Amino acid sequence: MANIAIIVHGGAGAWDVESERMRVGQAACREAALAGHAVLQAGGSALDAVETAVHVLEDCPALDAGRGSYPNANGEVEMDALIMDGRSLNMGAVAAIQRVRHPISLARHVMVDTQHTFLVGPGADAFADQISFPRCAVQELIVPPEVNGGQPARPAAGPLGDTVGAVAMDAHGDLAAATSTGGTRNKMPGRVGDSPLVGSGGYADNWTAGVSATGQGEAIMKVVLSKRVCDLVSDGLSAQAACEAAIRLLEERVGGECGLIAIDAQGQVGVARNTRAMPFAYVVGADKEGMVDGR
Ligand code: ASP
Repeated sequence: MANIAIIVHGGAGAWDVESERMRVGQAACREAALAGHAVLQAGGSALDAVETAVHVLEDCPALDAGRGSYPNANGEVEMDALIMDGRSLNMGAVAAIQRVRHPISLARHVMVDTQHTFLVGPGADAFADQISFPRCAVQELIVPPEVNGGQPARPAAGPLGDTVGAVAMDAHGDLAAATSTGGTRNKMPGRVGDSPLVGSGGYADNWTAGVSATGQGEAIMKVVLSKRVCDLVSDGLSAQAACEAAIRLLEERVGGECGLIAIDAQGQVGVARNTRAMPFAYVVGADKEGMVDGR
């Protein structure tokens, strides 16, 4: 039996670390890590654990995913999500999906219920309706700017959001990763960031690691950041060293700000960022009292 582990993040955005919003974001990360840990403790799969954890984060209005997503330049909410199973490399993703509370679950349906891996825009919307996936009004997703950091203190079209993500290892040693986002604030309609792109916003491979990324999607996708972490683990680095090295690589090759969480095949966690902050929480092993959180 492997040692269970779960790690979550609430985005490497332009956080004011002393803000009420940071307090709410950190609390959501702790709650998400505990919810995912409970799934693992009950013998659930890593996939179930990351989906459950991301649900909690998508529900948190302070974070840019599900409820709390940033509107685009047209005032619409277009969300992206990716889920990946490290055992089989099965994956499901959606992009520019509208009017759902939990894009990560729709991504999982794409993985399980279709022959495809990635649905976007109107096609993703049609699929949601076809499987009677719960829809919501756009007003349910948009929160007042002071709640999710969309206040004027942030640049009008800031390159960062506060994407959420989770990585888990279950008792069988299987890894899974999930990433969900409303994308960057005031983005162009149709803009898709790194988050739903396999290898960029996330990756999971039992042979190496599970990873979730956050930060400047336009930079992250150029270096396929999450897969880089897996490749560095394959080269012999720990999850922590690989996250740090991948961020250095991003800085050197394309510049940009990001954050990463990971669990390697040994069940070791990694967490790194080059932004001001990134709320996170993790539990390694059966004892939830051993939870570590930070920003
Ligand atoms: N990476 C996300 C995007 O570019 C934003 C974020 O992580 O906050 O859509």
